[in-house]
Amino acid sequence: MPSVLLLEDEMSIRSFISLNLKKANLTVYEAETGEDALEIFHKHKDIDIALLDVMLPDISGFQVCKEIRKRDKRVGIIMLTAKSQEDDKVEGLDTGADDYITKPFSMKELEARIGSLLRRIKAIKSAEKTPDVLSMPPFTLDLQKNTLMKDNQMINLTPTEIELIKYLMENENQPISRDQLLDHVWGKTFVGDLKIVDVNIRRIRKKIEECPSEPKYLKTYWGVGYIWKSYKK
Ligand code: CA
Repeated sequence: MPSVLLLEDEMSIRSFISLNLKKANLTVYEAETGEDALEIFHKHKDIDIALLDVMLPDISGFQVCKEIRKRDKRVGIIMLTAKSQEDDKVEGLDTGADDYITKPFSMKELEARIGSLLRRIKAIKSAEKTPDVLSMPPFTLDLQKNTLMKDNQMINLTPTEIELIKYLMENENQPISRDQLLDHVWGKTFVGDLKIVDVNIRRIRKKIEECPSEPKYLKTYWGVGYIWKSYKK
């Protein structure tokens, strides 16, 4: 269940919004002052969205927004602004808010804004978890389709070769030992010779290097194992 931090000093408005958001299956943490809001935000790591009223008796909602954004780049922030404060919208977005909604607003409108922000946050988070492609000019490794392109040429790799190259690319410019490669690609329970790593590396080089005996990308790192040399600018 997504969680919302609701900062609003007017009790009647706060209760009304809170009640409706709970009905919409959201967990709501209520704060009456900016200080309260920051304390709650600090305590509850599960907050997905902060709804921040701008006009408050202590620190302004913008200040709270700045503080929250400093601590968390991913939380969604919606400012609750008054109609008379058109300039606030710009300032709100400057301080790191994602969206604003002008009072008086309907719950339907607020819920729609929250829903769309939650979808955006979710998409960003899942994109961060699994990037679609690893770009290592002139190579592009597609992690969804498990394919490797060199310039615009598809290179045919076995699943094992793909796993090997993926691991090396993910650790670009860092030497990786044969043991690490074996553990990662074949698993810790694999019983066999380390030579299996070298055999696969040799095969990959034949497929990707212009001159396999003098590799430019998949290089040997003497005394350790292998290294993926990237030429990204
Ligand atoms: Ca207020």
